[in-house]
Amino acid sequence: MKAAVWYGQNNIRVEDITEPVPGPGQVKIKINACGICGSDLHEFRQGPFIIPVKPHPLTGQAGGPVVLGHEFSAEVVQPGSNVTGFNPGDRVTVNALITCNECHYCKKGAYNMCVKLGSTGFAADGGFAEYAVVNDYALFHLPDSVSDDMGSFIEPLAVSVRAVKRSRMKIGDSVAIIGAGPIGLLVMQVCLVAGASQVFVVEPIKARRDLAKKLGAAAVFNPFKSNPGKKIAELTNGLRTEIAFDCVGNQPAFNTALSTTGRRGTICIVGLSMTPVEVPFIRLWGHEKEIVFSCGYENEFTAALALMADKRIDIQEMISERIQLEDIVEKGIEPLIGDAEKYIKIVVYP
Ligand SMILES: [Zn+2]
Ligand SMILES: [Zn+2]
Repeated sequence: MKAAVWYGQNNIRVEDITEPVPGPGQVKIKINACGICGSDLHEFRQGPFIIPVKPHPLTGQAGGPVVLGHEFSAEVVQPGSNVTGFNPGDRVTVNALITCNECHYCKKGAYNMCVKLGSTGFAADGGFAEYAVVNDYALFHLPDSVSDDMGSFIEPLAVSVRAVKRSRMKIGDSVAIIGAGPIGLLVMQVCLVAGASQVFVVEPIKARRDLAKKLGAAAVFNPFKSNPGKKIAELTNGLRTEIAFDCVGNQPAFNTALSTTGRRGTICIVGLSMTPVEVPFIRLWGHEKEIVFSCGYENEFTAALALMADKRIDIQEMISERIQLEDIVEKGIEPLIGDAEKYIKIVVYP
């Protein structure tokens, strides 16, 4: 079968590899659509990052070669032995977490804290291929109203639902979103569904600001052309917001999150910083601000599916391109790195 295989930095090759065979408790699926995520770009440029370096305790994966891709919709081809509840032809999406299901954290449902945590598309072959084999516990049926494209957004939507839960946003709160990439735009929509009074979006790229506005942002700001903290203060009688989501993960984004939140505000860090970020204690202490972190998801797939199924979340205009697997590097990964302002999400059809 055809697959996009990661061998190392700047080295992803589309080639023919052996079709995987499901073991007990596993299911072979045919991939219908798989989104390219920021973490795939990280692996391409600077990896291995989430790809394990030492043999993974659950999968044995160590470095490459590995098939990336963890945001996908698929169709069941062949359930392995001991699999119940999934039959050939079933449309599914995949929770990317690979967990031991035995440790203290797994037993209480905190799957993203599993002591042996891995992820499909990093610690095991993922969705940039014609077929994949995944654990049956990771599969979720797609309702008819969720298309293959929408199914490929359930994983990032689960990330976004978790972020809003971690922020403890309450109905009526005002919110700032720093960064309107795919995650920022989904977090914004989840906040609106969850009853945010108004959501402000800070984003340098115009096309993304325009889409944020269309999807319900109360106001959008270019951080290079204005001071979002001051602007939001003007719009909120000086109160600023209760919650800011940093969906970028770097020093300027954190500084913006700090300045857009008011007293006793909460900053929820969703984007991932590779370098340390300075935190000015004095500005958080005096205003009793909190910083919380949100990492992936623990069990938010059911909620994400429900929000997608009845169209409370709109992803149609977030898809900038649809490409074939053989073009993944030239028409997917490279443009997303080099021409970021032109794209939000690129979806690959194996
Ligand atoms: Zn991702
Ligand atoms: Zn565990």
